Amino acid sequence: MRGLLIVVSGASGTGKGTVCKKILDDMPEVAYSISATTRLPRPGEVDGKEYYFLSRDEFQAWIADGKFLEFADVYGNFYGTPLNKIEERLNRGEDILLEIDVQGALNVKRKCPDGIYIFLLPPSLEELKRRIEGRGTETPESLHRRLANAVAEIKIGLEYDYVIVNDSVDNAAAQIKAILTAERCKVARNLDKFDLEGVD
Ligand code: 5GP
Repeated sequence: MRGLLIVVSGASGTGKGTVCKKILDDMPEVAYSISATTRLPRPGEVDGKEYYFLSRDEFQAWIADGKFLEFADVYGNFYGTPLNKIEERLNRGEDILLEIDVQGALNVKRKCPDGIYIFLLPPSLEELKRRIEGRGTETPESLHRRLANAVAEIKIGLEYDYVIVNDSVDNAAAQIKAILTAERCKVARNLDKFDLEGVD
């Protein structure tokens, strides 16, 4: 069976990073697509693990070389999904998880309509604000910008296939696993099982 292209988005502070990490820990068959970005690493982030950290010139060179499936300007920095043989890997049956912003996800959806588009919501806007502030890495200006963006992004959630309220990491991850199980059972993904040639 062709692998699943799983695209997860959610407003900043929705906790999508933690939920995706749990999925990857619990489901070793799912591979994470490491994005490239021009933003600076946060403390503890390692080049080639969380992201490929590129200069703006390097990022532009990757664009010119056609290395991205999609890229977007998010909060003043560039982020992009490297093509990195995604199509071949899916055809080999590998599942690939993309954790990207809404602009990127909509671009991928146009190119890959058989992907699974999952939108994470915070339990409430108050909780979202608390989570972004609690991260402690934002300046007041970037906090304000991220909150305003979050509200605009949530509206784009209507374009996705599935919505999950991240009230707890375990619940959200369990729901994503249930979605993946159901998707793997879709008739359209299992047409080979209906190939009854040779059976009377
Ligand atoms: P952060 O800087 O907090 O790691 O990520 C900021 C935003 O960029 C998040 O919404 C994240 O999902 C998004 N993002 C991360 N990688 C990519 C990517 O490859 N493409 C796009 N379009 N957005 C990305």
